[in-house]
Amino acid sequence: LQECASVTPEIATSVVRELENQRTRVKLIASENYCSLPVQLTMGNLLTDKYAEGMPNHRFYAGNENVDAVEMLAAEEARKIFGAEYANVQPHCGADANLLAYWAILTTRIETPALEKYGQTNLYKLTDDQWNELKQDLGNQRLLGLDYYSGGHLTHGYRYNVSSRMFDVHGYTVNRDTGVLDYDEIERQALELKPLILLAGYSAYPRKINFKRMREIADKAGAVFMVDMAHFAGLVAGKVFTGEFDPIPHAHVVTTTTHKTLRGPRAGMVLSTAEFADALDKGCPLVMGGPLPHVIAAKAVAFREAGKPEFKDYAKKIVDNSQALAAACIKNGLEVLTGGTDNHLFLVNVRSLGITGRQAESALHESHITLNRNSLPFDPNGPWYTSGLRIGTAAVTTLGMGKAEMEELGAIIALVLKSTVPAPDPKDPAKHSKAKYTIDGAAKTEAHSRIE
Ligand code: PLP
Repeated sequence: LQECASVTPEIATSVVRELENQRTRVKLIASENYCSLPVQLTMGNLLTDKYAEGMPNHRFYAGNENVDAVEMLAAEEARKIFGAEYANVQPHCGADANLLAYWAILTTRIETPALEKYGQTNLYKLTDDQWNELKQDLGNQRLLGLDYYSGGHLTHGYRYNVSSRMFDVHGYTVNRDTGVLDYDEIERQALELKPLILLAGYSAYPRKINFKRMREIADKAGAVFMVDMAHFAGLVAGKVFTGEFDPIPHAHVVTTTTHKTLRGPRAGMVLSTAEFADALDKGCPLVMGGPLPHVIAAKAVAFREAGKPEFKDYAKKIVDNSQALAAACIKNGLEVLTGGTDNHLFLVNVRSLGITGRQAESALHESHITLNRNSLPFDPNGPWYTSGLRIGTAAVTTLGMGKAEMEELGAIIALVLKSTVPAPDPKDPAKHSKAKYTIDGAAKTEAHSRIE
């Protein structure tokens, strides 16, 4: 940091302030964690100076012996901890990983058979008519994934995301009454739509997914079964999700981030069966820009950490804490969707308290608890103001917190939320604002001192 301060003291100051923030606020953001010092330090190294387009031993640049060794080790560690046939550790983030996966599935299942049909092996050899026909076919494929409001991610076909331009997108939702996935209904939709891809995985769904059942549905519908385990990869590596709840034995392609429950560097990865390996290998430079070798090195470190027996204890504690915190929220009068959780996160409905998710998020941040607002299934408040909070326990578990702290946190969260009221809307004082609010001063002071 001293070296950084000698060039850009402004940046060093922001880093120190971030440290201060992280030390004084309790982090309950479900998609964040604290990676280890070895992971952090590995990211800050001179491998960043290398261009490494291509794959190990097949690069578009010279001098990649060391990067090759790093990347091969990272991929090997990934295959080992997840039991996958193939791993591509190059994606820079989870969105990249999904883009790469979509492209590889389109290439493998649509483009390659079309080339065979035309008796070609190379796209450039197609006539203009053949290419136009293939483009039509590539552009008309269906993706069936979890709807954004039911907990799916933007990259699963949300209208504003590039994925919605790649596919004819359809969403399945959670059941309106139970809040959980209805596999019979998903099967009905899949058989009707016959999508190229059936996608499972979420950013905000508090229950386990039966991947065995989802694969059966995909098989019946003739779809490729893809799972985005960005949120729960740590629970898979830590063997909390096993059997039908482990996506690896059931999915054709699995994507993930590496920085959430997996506790690695900020990045992404794709795992797959051998069928998609060739296409995935060509993803750099056809989909992604040059890999980040320094981050890939940090992935290898994180994967080795995740393969240790201690990581299993860690993963189990994340879920124990999540369940304890959800129970504490319920005990203190909050509405937790589906009545609890099977994983590292759960959702709280704040609508009954008369506030929006945005107001709840800000009031808690002021009280030194950092978490994020989240749309709830069929949310009338839309994706900006929302009606809910998403609460996750991966980061606090890394800090060593346990059941006692979860009980205390549940009480503090309820205290703050029940002491927050919407302020009048500045544009129309007869109405409540969806963003502005006031917190009772005594409750805020009490929350502060209890957090400290
Ligand atoms: N997939 C899921 C399920 C996610 O929750 C996220 C991010 O939160 C992503 C993909 C995208 O990850 P990134 O922000 O690293 O691109």
